[in-house]
Amino acid sequence: MMQEKGKLIVISGPSGAGKSTVVFKAIEGREDVCFSTSVTTRKPRPGEVDGREYFFVDPDRFKEMVENDELLEHAEYVANSYGTPRAYVEEKLDAGLNVLLDIEVQGARQVHEKMPDAVKVFIIPPSLEELEKRLKGRGTDTERAIEARLIRARQEYQEADFYDYLIINDDADKAAKELSAIILAEHCRFNDRKEYLK
Ligand code: ADP
Ligand code: 5GP
Repeated sequence: MMQEKGKLIVISGPSGAGKSTVVFKAIEGREDVCFSTSVTTRKPRPGEVDGREYFFVDPDRFKEMVENDELLEHAEYVANSYGTPRAYVEEKLDAGLNVLLDIEVQGARQVHEKMPDAVKVFIIPPSLEELEKRLKGRGTDTERAIEARLIRARQEYQEADFYDYLIINDDADKAAKELSAIILAEHCRFNDRKEYLK
């Protein structure tokens, strides 16, 4: 078999939908898939570790990264900045690895402009009531932050038709299987394999 190119997989969906849960279940034990850790100006939540969930930076450093073109995309989300370090993504894709990004809709649109082959997956909970329950159950956000995230969720739902795939995260194991299936199917695309016909 020829060395296949890595796929860039953009995952979006409302905060609390279970994106991190599903992504980490899907990549567990796999060496062909990696997760791009974003940079954010948001303060770490209890239990979050710098360099694992995010690289936590101050607004000046974030601005500097934007100015130096170090970010593949970046956006504001509920009063904080978030961005994807470009170098990591490019290096892993070049090495043939699939790279997962967990980013919101504005960032997904920027990635789509720059890398139209990126696969776009939207993950939602079974209902908005369940979303509120998960945000409260996670216990990491204030009541006000949860309200802001619920408002943002409704806005993001309006843009969901921009995505290629929709996963309903009712059961996290099933959702992770669906994400793995999407990655697998994307590697079977005719255009990527037509060289074999020669
Ligand atoms: P996101 O990354 O989308 O913000 P998280 O992965 O942090 O969401 O999940 C939000 C909360 O919902 C967490 O407490 C997580 O354990 C829980 N959760 C995730 N998936 C499910 C599921 N399928 N059923 C019930 N709870 C879930
Ligand atoms: P949270 O603060 O809950 O970790 O993330 C809030 C939102 O920011 C989520 O929708 C998440 O997908 C998004 N996000 C995380 N990292 C990035 C990033 O690098 N770029 C963009 N555009 N959004 C991000």
